[in-house]
Amino acid sequence: MTDASTPDISLPTHQAWLVKTVELALNHRRRGGRPFAALLVRDGQLLASAVNLMHLAGDPTRHAELEALRTASQHGPLKGAVVYASGHPCPMCLSALVMNDISAVYYAFDNQDAAPYGFDSSMSYARLGLSLAPPPLPLIKLASPISAATLYGNMDGCDHHE
Ligand SMILES: [Zn+2]
Repeated sequence: MTDASTPDISLPTHQAWLVKTVELALNHRRRGGRPFAALLVRDGQLLASAVNLMHLAGDPTRHAELEALRTASQHGPLKGAVVYASGHPCPMCLSALVMNDISAVYYAFDNQDAAPYGFDSSMSYARLGLSLAPPPLPLIKLASPISAATLYGNMDGCDHHE
């Protein structure tokens, strides 16, 4: 009983997925990774749960959203799937999400939230001449269970290096 054109997902459900995403990002940060995570969900099923892997691979393209796309693609076409991201997608990830027919992105922190910590991709959007008004797919900010400072700021006893 699912209508692919109008996914009937309630706001509390979106919020619950996003809370999981933010928790994953925070746990990843505590283990030394960059503070980003993404989930990819289709028809209420979690197809991929991913974190930013730049620190392991020395590969600046291994953003959480792209990792989620790579994993979820093993389960077939992604048309109509929804992505939950701890941070607003950068232009590289947003392009890949659009190209793969992702229906919407729900995220916790926007570029303004992230800018004080050096995680702002708005300059890249500007250099590429990409406007988000209107956005190429719904980009919806939801409330986060934790603050941007908790996720992006200095952790106890460890310096924050970009
Ligand atoms: Zn990205």
